Amino acid sequence: MPASFSYQWDTPAYKGKTEFNTGLFTNNEFVDGSNKTTIDVINPTNGKVITSVSEAVEADVEIAVAAAEKAYATTWGLNASGAQRADLLWKLAILMERDLDELAAIEALDNGKTFNWAKGTDVSFAIAVFKYFGGWADKITGQTIETDEKKLIYTRHEPIGVVGQIIPWNFPLLMLAWKLGPALATGNTIILKPSEFTPLTALRICALVKEAGFPPGVVNILTGYGPTVGAAIATHQKIDKVAFTGSTLVGRKIMEMAAKSNLKNVTLELGGKSPTVVFDDADLDTAVAWALHGLFWNHGQACCAGSRVFVHAKIYDEFLKKLTERAKAINVGDPFGAKTDQGPQVSQTQYERIMSYIESGKSDGATVHLGGERHGTEGYFIQPTIFTDVKPDMKIVKEEIFGPVGVVIKFDDDDHIIKQANDTLYGLAAAVFSQNITRAITTAHKLQAGTVWVNCANQLHANVPFGGFKQSGIGRELGEYALHNYTNVKAVHVNVGHVL
Ligand code: NAD
Repeated sequence: MPASFSYQWDTPAYKGKTEFNTGLFTNNEFVDGSNKTTIDVINPTNGKVITSVSEAVEADVEIAVAAAEKAYATTWGLNASGAQRADLLWKLAILMERDLDELAAIEALDNGKTFNWAKGTDVSFAIAVFKYFGGWADKITGQTIETDEKKLIYTRHEPIGVVGQIIPWNFPLLMLAWKLGPALATGNTIILKPSEFTPLTALRICALVKEAGFPPGVVNILTGYGPTVGAAIATHQKIDKVAFTGSTLVGRKIMEMAAKSNLKNVTLELGGKSPTVVFDDADLDTAVAWALHGLFWNHGQACCAGSRVFVHAKIYDEFLKKLTERAKAINVGDPFGAKTDQGPQVSQTQYERIMSYIESGKSDGATVHLGGERHGTEGYFIQPTIFTDVKPDMKIVKEEIFGPVGVVIKFDDDDHIIKQANDTLYGLAAAVFSQNITRAITTAHKLQAGTVWVNCANQLHANVPFGGFKQSGIGRELGEYALHNYTNVKAVHVNVGHVL
């Protein structure tokens, strides 16, 4: 029998407890991994072990695939009506509402994000996503198509089948909801692998999946490492699709594995190095507030982080002064502090990676305008950091840092700024600030990004598509567009008098 994890919080932000199983979840039951090995889960505020979870290996993927195939053929897939699927998705959302605080507390403990953000954004948004896709479940329809022959032709949007989903650690529960929501609404069965750094909310959700009444084998959660269980999912012959969110580096590998195995359908949500463009006619306070949020939201661990801030020369000094004042006021500390804005980075690996980017900025000759050091003496805390005097070929300008580190760049040529903003292999998101509607919209249309925010930043909604241009990904999550990731279109021709 796999172990349970129990924990009690008595903090300024939250008082309460949790208890859940830390095994692998297949067939609506928790089981040990085939190798009986476990993975330690580390508390990023102090580097200490919180608990350990079962480690799935290739053999466990076989077990999960068998469960998912059986469910697809018997209780789910074409066997569950849209109304039944809608009902279960809504039940899951309502159970998550009941356990909102507990889920937020687990997320904050495991990831290091603040309890208040986890509650107000991650878990609340995840609930909204399940409700939104629950609403779609009985509205998955095809078309009827006229031709000049006597035929009735219609299309059906059928589920793809057994789907593999691999997600990152920056929004553990939210990324799970973005993946499970559309896949379940359209009738697929799922094998999902959370990040080895943040597996806890995915495991806590398993009990709610069962309580909501999803049949066994519809949702299977395997905790484990990428190169082992992740690769086994991406290469499995009986998994018909893989949906991945994570780095561009690993996304490329997923696509290769999918191509070399059974040419499975692939969607990818990858990295970013998003530009924020502030024109001289922007409302300064609005631009500063959103640019700050764009850069430092979730400790900079957001794929859409506005980590390159371009500011027009006429307002550059004042903008930088105000941005710096606001960034200095960011309260870095315990995620369960009542007034904490920024907790630790997720892991030792990420901490070291970000610090090495900060060092490279320093040695490349950029000016550390703010921060640039570790915060405190234990855990993975980093000061909010702003670099100025940067050059386009510096690593801190070109590469995704995925931490609270941004560059502020002066510009004075409106035409050239679009070129600079687009000078990246990524194309996930961008923000533009101007009070001139023509200038703002013209710029929005010229920016190469899947999302452009005008006079705001990092805004996401369950019903609005999100995804990348260029090397930021393939396919769209959220909104009606996400349903296309999880359906096969079948055209049915019915002869009603057409003679050969
Ligand atoms: P990562 O690519 O290291 O890992 C993501 C997932 O892939 C994890 O579950 C990991 O275990 C797994 N994995 C790693 N190697 C694998 C392999 N060889 N085969 C199969 N699976 C493997 O990314 P991360 O560090 O967890 O997350 C940060 C990245 O995610 C950033 O680049 C960020 O921009 C991106 N991200 C993108 C979006 C989006 O919507 N575009 C959202 C969130 C995060």
